[in-house]
Amino acid sequence: MRVAFISLGCAKALVDTETMMGILKAKGHEITPEVEKADIVVINTCSFIEGARRETEETVREITALGKKIVLAGCYVNRYRSELKKRFPGLFSWVSTEEIWEIEEAIKGKVIPYKGLYLQDAKTPRLVSTPPSWAYLKISEGCSRGCTFCAIPSIRGPYRSREIEDIVQEARALEDQGRLEINIISQDTTYFGGDRGKREIGPLIEALLSGTDRAWIRLLYLYPSENLHEILPLFSEERLLPYFDIPLQHSDKKILRAMGRPWDGEKYLELINRIRDTVRDAVIRTSVIVGFPGEGPREFDGLLRWIERARFDRLGVFSYSREEGTTAYPLGDTVDQREKERRATVVAELQAEISREKNEKMVGRELYVLVEGKTPEGVYFGRSHHFAPEVDGGIYILGEVMAEGFVKIKITHAHTYDLEGEPK
Ligand code: SF4
Repeated sequence: MRVAFISLGCAKALVDTETMMGILKAKGHEITPEVEKADIVVINTCSFIEGARRETEETVREITALGKKIVLAGCYVNRYRSELKKRFPGLFSWVSTEEIWEIEEAIKGKVIPYKGLYLQDAKTPRLVSTPPSWAYLKISEGCSRGCTFCAIPSIRGPYRSREIEDIVQEARALEDQGRLEINIISQDTTYFGGDRGKREIGPLIEALLSGTDRAWIRLLYLYPSENLHEILPLFSEERLLPYFDIPLQHSDKKILRAMGRPWDGEKYLELINRIRDTVRDAVIRTSVIVGFPGEGPREFDGLLRWIERARFDRLGVFSYSREEGTTAYPLGDTVDQREKERRATVVAELQAEISREKNEKMVGRELYVLVEGKTPEGVYFGRSHHFAPEVDGGIYILGEVMAEGFVKIKITHAHTYDLEGEPK
């Protein structure tokens, strides 16, 4: 069969899509990028907030209008399995994230019942879809934190870590494919091994560094905890990128408690300063939520002042989405949507200023850049350790370089989120 995939949602969902594509290809099916030419379309969905659900529903409507058979996969299935027939009467079949290994049965029209929690391993076929220079590597599934606003634990189940040797085996396979950057992902990377009653993020990093030769290792989705302090010395190893993606969500102690999050804004600043003091050229990315119940003008102003002091290198801002089944749901939705969006804009504008000032300080520096390829305009594009794939900007290279690999670039211009530079 000719199968097309549409992958919505996060990087973890993308790895699920790549796994389903790998399984079908290994069984002799053709994976086509063109929906029009496909016999069947698999839509891998997201459902953790209202906006993501709307995108899923719109995509199903669009593909249905093309007269295509649809297999619905992913988190929307996990969350609304019992209502799918009512919500999408024309659906051909569906698989949740726990049944992706049965995707072939699903494209034959079989609806796969729930059989328990699933965790992929290095033996599972996977068709990596990211640019040839880099890939994601998922180290666990689910989450066991209790953030009150978050539906992911109820969608993806409790945290379960893969085996370290199994993860290293997959990292080596990715490196053998020519991937020069391996982005470690999970719902909570710092907690790795916690479901086994152990702190294993440190041993995992050491095993990845000794089990691979030349690829950059980047950690994403870190959680503010003691484990994070413990692994800081490991960043003296050059291939472990000094990039810290730590969603902190807010700075106000009362709001953080209501969110079920640890520490407070001052303790977070201590962590950030410790990282910057300990790790050379460290880059800190975070994300915050505005409009959570109880966030009045004073709390919001406090958040702005905190962002000014923290001067994050990268910051994403989300408006609170009240989610059924979460512990925060009974708190209601006290900040109206327009006000949430106004606050999100104020935060984004503040961060744009900080980002531009920081980028201007990069002019004149010489950086190691991983070339990703050419833009549609024919300009080479790449990223140094300062930029994570897909969520951050990058570096436009003015001049000829090798089409892939690491090159040295001298930064000549700064923009709000991107840089420009010339080959050295
Ligand atoms: S750490 Fe919190 S926000 Fe992140 S997936 Fe787990 S419960 Fe959700």
